[in-house]
Amino acid sequence: MSDTDRPWGLDTLAIREGIARTQYNEHNEPLFLSSSFVFDNAAQAAARFAGDEDGFIYSRAGNPTVAAFQNRLAALEGGEACVATASGMSAIMATVMSLTRAGDHVVAAFELFGATLQLFGILQRFGIEVTFVRQDDIDAWRAAIRPNTKLLYLETPSNPLTTLTDVRALAAVARERGVMLAVDNCFCSPALQTPLAMGADIVVHSATKYIDGQGRVLGGAVVGGRKYIEETLAPFVRTTGPTLSAFNAWVLQKGLETLGMRMQRQSANALALATWLQAQPGVSRVHYPGLPSHPQHALALAQQKTGGAIVSFELGRDGEDLYGEALRRRAWAVVDTCRLMSITANLGDVKTTITHPASTTHGRAGAEARRAAGVNEGLIRIAVGAEDPADLIDDLGRALASAR
Ligand SMILES: *Cc1c(COP(=O)(O)O)cnc(C)c1O
Repeated sequence: MSDTDRPWGLDTLAIREGIARTQYNEHNEPLFLSSSFVFDNAAQAAARFAGDEDGFIYSRAGNPTVAAFQNRLAALEGGEACVATASGMSAIMATVMSLTRAGDHVVAAFELFGATLQLFGILQRFGIEVTFVRQDDIDAWRAAIRPNTKLLYLETPSNPLTTLTDVRALAAVARERGVMLAVDNCFCSPALQTPLAMGADIVVHSATKYIDGQGRVLGGAVVGGRKYIEETLAPFVRTTGPTLSAFNAWVLQKGLETLGMRMQRQSANALALATWLQAQPGVSRVHYPGLPSHPQHALALAQQKTGGAIVSFELGRDGEDLYGEALRRRAWAVVDTCRLMSITANLGDVKTTITHPASTTHGRAGAEARRAAGVNEGLIRIAVGAEDPADLIDDLGRALASAR
């Protein structure tokens, strides 16, 4: 923490927050690979188990490396406390299950990450009711809230079409109706957007993506107020067990050190690629919040530092069947012709990745749902990395030319 009146800036927090040096005075963050911790005597063991003495007991309940990562991420998000989890999905599961019981109701964005939609399907089996609304329609969110609603849940921007939710406006609705608002901040990361500062109660992360940033490990995290995190969420995670491993926490803590510069560079590359894509023959539409042509560009400027690093574009021609085989073949040809961009499921990596959402991330959703979501066969998503932008443009340029 800063020792002047002025709090540390984001990049300083990302590099310096949450360091507790051991007796060896190591400069780099230490890694504590230990499933449990030793007590001086039986009385100390009893005091730790009873919660009368602070200290680590067993790594499912707490580990110094995991705690250091949690403290650093909480500081970056402007939250009081954080619990890290084994994956983004376990962070989302723990958030929803810790706040609800059978008979409760959740309102969620229709545009959520595919596995999150499937998770809500599983939770419905346990008596948790879910209503889906279009994420940019604040009136729809308000109308969907019922007396038994406990949580509003969304991502902004959405994947792959980069639709935004006005977090400040929705937070005002949540406050007025006494429900919690949770935002999956995976796509922007705290380097570009801090939902808690805009009134959200909880931030959820897949740390697998930009927080790692180099495609190495899975992880997740939930950040929020001390009372919710320590009294409600932490006991849930400790008991159900989707704890983050110390090794992964160490990798993710190192990932946070470079988060700010990676997000700046990857956003600049994304803007360059999106601007170039807009001028390409055969590209009918580009989805990128950093472009003035994005329908929510003004909102993006108001709540994000940049447009982010995800760019989607469409190949469909006027009058063409947007859900037909021919368009799918053309989109696949573009993906297959790229040599630099990787065809892979991860995103947030410094290596640029390219995907065809209709046949991958949204493949299981079914044709009806894809149509409703606007994920057509000509849509291609690029998670822009940190390579030289001219090389990315050359790669995609060659691919577009070959598929024309
Ligand atoms: C990847 C992702 C998740 C799930 O995270 P995992 O770490 O893969 O479990 C959740 N939300 C969003 C927006 C994601 O992109």
